[in-house]
Amino acid sequence: MNKIDKTYNLLERISTLFRSEIRLAGIQHGLHPVHIEVLSYLSRCNRLSNTPASVSEYLGVTKGTISQSISLLESKELLEKVADEKDRRVVHLNLTDKGKQLIENSMPPTSFRSPLEKFSEDEVDNLHRLLDTLLNGIQKCNKRAGFSHCKTCVFNSPKSPSEFYCELTKEELPWEDGYLICREHAMCK
Ligand code: SF4
Repeated sequence: MNKIDKTYNLLERISTLFRSEIRLAGIQHGLHPVHIEVLSYLSRCNRLSNTPASVSEYLGVTKGTISQSISLLESKELLEKVADEKDRRVVHLNLTDKGKQLIENSMPPTSFRSPLEKFSEDEVDNLHRLLDTLLNGIQKCNKRAGFSHCKTCVFNSPKSPSEFYCELTKEELPWEDGYLICREHAMCK
């Protein structure tokens, strides 16, 4: 078996197991997998990226499916719609405390957390580097850029150990925000 087939087999098996965990997490709360995926994404994205269109684009599902999912999650008080302060036509989706709690208790699943906790810091760093490179390569190939973190973004201009400047939004942001998913992310050359 060549290196590509072997890697593909491993990633495919991991993603199958992960989807199964998402399904089980949803069943406990009367939710479908897509509902858990919406909540999980919203718990990890920045405020440029928490619109219904961004959720639809990130998950690769239709706007109709996302709209239905948002209505259901709203009715279960897991998220709320908030109009943008500058442009009232734009809607942001914020998790409620109940929604945050549900995701915190479910994701990442214990079956993923436990083996990763056994890795050393160096092993995890190496794994992240390789997975980052693989993800960037896949995004370049299928021309679906965006939805990554500030650290590899061309608009990221470090200011201090605690802050960076986003050249796109013209805002100074805390480094913690740099670990959130951003739909406007543009890859450094
Ligand atoms: S630096 Fe890039 S990834 Fe970070 S907020 Fe700005 S556009 Fe988004």
